Amino acid sequence: MAKFVLIGSGLAGGLLAAHLGRRRHEIDLYERRADPREGNIVGGRSINLAISTRGIHALEQVGIADEGLRHAIPMRGRMIHDKSGELHFTPYDVDPKKCINSIGRAALNTTVIEAAQRYPNVRVHFNHKCTHIDLDCAVAHLETANGALAAHGDAVIGVDGAFSAVRGSMQMQIDGFEYDESYLAHGYKELTIPPGTGSSWQMEKNALHIWPRKSFMMIALPNPDGSFTCTLFWEFEGARSFATTKTDDDVRRFFNEEFPDAVPLMPTLQEDFRQNPTGSLVTIRCAPWYYRDKVCLVGDAAHAVVPFYGQGMNAAFEDCVVLAECLQKFPNDRERAFAEYFEHRKENADALADLAIGNFIEMRDKTASKAFRAKKKLDHLLEAALPGIYLPLYTMVTFTRIPYSKAARRALVQDQIVYGSLMSLSALLIALLLRLIAR
Ligand SMILES: Cc1cc2nc3c(=O)[nH]c(=O)nc-3n(C[C@H](O)[C@H](O)[C@H](O)COP(=O)(O)OP(=O)(O)OC[C@H]3O[C@@H](n4cnc5c(N)ncnc54)[C@H](O)[C@@H]3O)c2cc1C
Repeated sequence: MAKFVLIGSGLAGGLLAAHLGRRRHEIDLYERRADPREGNIVGGRSINLAISTRGIHALEQVGIADEGLRHAIPMRGRMIHDKSGELHFTPYDVDPKKCINSIGRAALNTTVIEAAQRYPNVRVHFNHKCTHIDLDCAVAHLETANGALAAHGDAVIGVDGAFSAVRGSMQMQIDGFEYDESYLAHGYKELTIPPGTGSSWQMEKNALHIWPRKSFMMIALPNPDGSFTCTLFWEFEGARSFATTKTDDDVRRFFNEEFPDAVPLMPTLQEDFRQNPTGSLVTIRCAPWYYRDKVCLVGDAAHAVVPFYGQGMNAAFEDCVVLAECLQKFPNDRERAFAEYFEHRKENADALADLAIGNFIEMRDKTASKAFRAKKKLDHLLEAALPGIYLPLYTMVTFTRIPYSKAARRALVQDQIVYGSLMSLSALLIALLLRLIAR
């Protein structure tokens, strides 16, 4: 069996180590941070995230879905908060059992790392920062508190996130390596709604809350301790933006104007706003994701996407399943396995990147409208009337494992048929009506 050096034990790194460990590969997993079980926060990203069908399937493959979902909170739909404080609930699917799940990032990270460590052939090394890779000989160079060391393997897999050092080495050493990064004009900041009395939830627990405000929005996901983690997605620059909101009074005024129903639930608003960092939102596309049989990229290292479809981690988990399958399919030809994995995943990662940006506009603007709610009702009606034939895009992305690119194409065709038919029907009705009036 091959020996893999994995860089990064975030969500996908831990899970990939478990998938490959299960297939008896020798794994050395190096993570720059300390062990998350020692109280170190998996910082830099959201506190909680939404896991759905693709991610759950990847956990099931290594037998840890129940463990991973132990403290998950099902969210059955979007709870829209308009400016007057009025609430509108739109279920995610016609089937009320279909939900996405709010899950703590740190707990899930621990679950995947512990799952990997159950295999004696997997070793996890914390406090090891990868500086660069020698691609031709599959050697990872690492920095530790005790000095530098080199980790040798048959191949190095970069699971080291959006700002991947492994990808950086590929950019430097591969002629013609394609790389593109694009940042949104919006950043994000996490804020808190603490638990109510007796650890109760101060808003509907089983929903993803959205305050859509056209060019920006706030969302909130429930946590098991009764709190909600809110994320404000807002322009970095502009007349009203992160840049111009400097004092506690500015923050209070902005929130009172835009999210008046949330303010009474956020006693630490100003403090959170001041202390919590403002993160940026990047889409990264690159190609190829592998170098010969020596190096490969997985997860955000290969394809970071903006978080508006709640699919970045789900897609990274799907990568782990596909890569492990490809390695099993071509046990004696790792380059072919890497190539097949890349071929299978690249167009889907590109499709997801576009879908995620499109969903930002839908969430921050369209969810507020009656037309959006009517479209969702029509989607659900059609889904119920034409089971297996009509599947709304959100359902395909979130509740199936249909490849993202196929889902996007199918939704386009469905929309053309449905809206084309509706327009023809309306035209026919109007013509009939005019004829009746003319008689
Ligand atoms: C605000 C926000 C909300 C999100 N919400 C969702 C959601 O609801 N659902 C969803 O599916 N996705 C969501 N995502 C996306 C999700 O967070 C990522 O897609 C996911 O974390 C990718 O996992 P990864 O393991 O590839 O990378 P990461 O989780 O970033 O892990 C990379 C790991 O590599 C380590 N590392 C980095 N550099 C080095 C180095 N040089 N040497 C050694 N180790 C290194 C890091 O410390 C880290 O542990 C969200 C993202 C953001 C920003």
